[in-house]
Amino acid sequence: MRLPVHVRRGDTVEVITGKHRGKRGKVLRVSPKDGRIIVEGVMVAKRHMKPTQKMPSGGIVEKEMAFPAGKAMLVCTRCGRAVRFGHRLLEDGTKVRICRHCGEIIDKA
Ligand SMILES: [Zn+2]
Repeated sequence: MRLPVHVRRGDTVEVITGKHRGKRGKVLRVSPKDGRIIVEGVMVAKRHMKPTQKMPSGGIVEKEMAFPAGKAMLVCTRCGRAVRFGHRLLEDGTKVRICRHCGEIIDKA
């Protein structure tokens, strides 16, 4: 079975499609249920807040919106680009993620 979300919280990803293409950021939240992720500084929506007792003048709040994980690719720190990655089992039994482009071990899976 294929996991709907291939990236994890803390990963640096690049948006590969849509009007935010090329933007990079850290994955803040992963929602496996609907296959969406929230990435720092990407898909930021401005929301105009009505004045409340806490904020008497109202204001604009910026908030990252979730988008489908398929629109983002992991960024390899060695080649510095958005890459596909695979998994490999090391001799000591550790499962790691490797960059399909340069073969570098990204981290433990
Ligand atoms: Zn690489």
